[in-house]
Amino acid sequence: MSEEMKALREQLLNANQNGYDRISDSDLAAMEEYCAAYKNYLNEGKTERECAANTVALAEKNGFVPYKRGMALKAGDKVYTLNRGKSVMLAVTGKESLAKGTNIIAAHIDSPRLDLKPNPLYEEGEMAYFKTHYYGGIRKYQWVTIPLQMRGVVALKNGEKIRVVLGEGDEPQYIITDLLPHLGAEQGKKPLNEAIPAETLNVLLGSRPLGDEDDKDRFKMQIMKRLHDKYGILEADLISAELEVVPVANATDIGLDASLIGAYGHDDRVCAFAALQGLLDSDVPNKTAVCMLADKEEIGSMGVTGMQSAAFDTFMEDLCDSQGISLRECFENSFCLSSDVTAAFDPNFADVFDKRNVARVNHGIGLCKYTGARGKSGSSDADAETVAYIRRVFDESEVVWQMSELGKTDAGGGGTVAQYMANRNIATLDAGVPVLSMHAPFETVAKLDCYMTYKGCKAVYKA
Ligand code: MN
Ligand code: MN
Repeated sequence: MSEEMKALREQLLNANQNGYDRISDSDLAAMEEYCAAYKNYLNEGKTERECAANTVALAEKNGFVPYKRGMALKAGDKVYTLNRGKSVMLAVTGKESLAKGTNIIAAHIDSPRLDLKPNPLYEEGEMAYFKTHYYGGIRKYQWVTIPLQMRGVVALKNGEKIRVVLGEGDEPQYIITDLLPHLGAEQGKKPLNEAIPAETLNVLLGSRPLGDEDDKDRFKMQIMKRLHDKYGILEADLISAELEVVPVANATDIGLDASLIGAYGHDDRVCAFAALQGLLDSDVPNKTAVCMLADKEEIGSMGVTGMQSAAFDTFMEDLCDSQGISLRECFENSFCLSSDVTAAFDPNFADVFDKRNVARVNHGIGLCKYTGARGKSGSSDADAETVAYIRRVFDESEVVWQMSELGKTDAGGGGTVAQYMANRNIATLDAGVPVLSMHAPFETVAKLDCYMTYKGCKAVYKA
């Protein structure tokens, strides 16, 4: 190629470079430190409640205080609201009026899992089990024969709440069994989605009977006795419990070069942590910076702790009231980065991706103009102006970013909280970390992309 053509090519064409060819040495060092903190965040929050509590603890360590209605707020004041223990809203008051809008980053802290059914405990074949009901889009075959824990709360009639953690540290762990290959001929012929029916996702709890041969319910009794000894709960108390079955495995580096992180719950705690840490590390912003960590995204953002809940509007309206500003004026001038993971190109499954429009591992935070399915249905489809705005914000802060779609057109689809922000009259764009084996009990992301998502969040708060 002639020098002239080379220069012209550089000028005219869009180079989509690997982040390692662009990242500075100082960013490389900061990336490792950031990812170590992120792994801790994952290990300390395997449920939305634990993640919310950990978020609040980190925020308080960094000077955030619980917001109280009517509180006067001046530039630099840091407040948060914990919504029913399961979602967190944080704000750093900006120098400018809320009438100028806010910079919001919204991520979610719930992840796909198995919830216990309201009447979970039974015995069969001289063993005891818990019945589960899956939460979010899981591939059921991935949840058998892996070590599991149970975490959550039991709410008692007297208002007391008991935190439950079963299977941590030296404690015994749990399992869902699968068929042996020797007898799996018929099962093996079934489509992947049907080979493990939902009603067979039953957690094995034990096999040692309590009492004598002529006693009844001896296997159930053994389990209930132990739960009662440890937590003082009765079988009926499980009716008002939220117990989540999650993998035992902690976050760990992946690959000989340790360039990736494997963990349960990257979707979407990888973006939640970026949004949170970005806020904790921000100077006093011009516009008020808001970090929204929502629950219930994986089941449609419904409910009091989901992104469709008025809890967010209430939090924002309270902030606006403190400055005598109308919420609608604040919203119409606000920007929201809906920070949620996207699918990373996987060469093992290349045919579900449009290779020219897919997020690649190590190419940085993946912008997504729309998600949805069947012709963008169910997506907010950000406008060109909003995409141009974020290109500038990211480029000015040397954020490695890429443009992406979730997968091939008509190959499937997905959703995020973006549409619920956009419906509030807030200009919104999706952006997040590309993930390999998304929604699996053990997902994989690249460290460079985690760090660039954090840098991107910081740039948005600062804008
Ligand atoms: Mn997500
Ligand atoms: Mn998801």
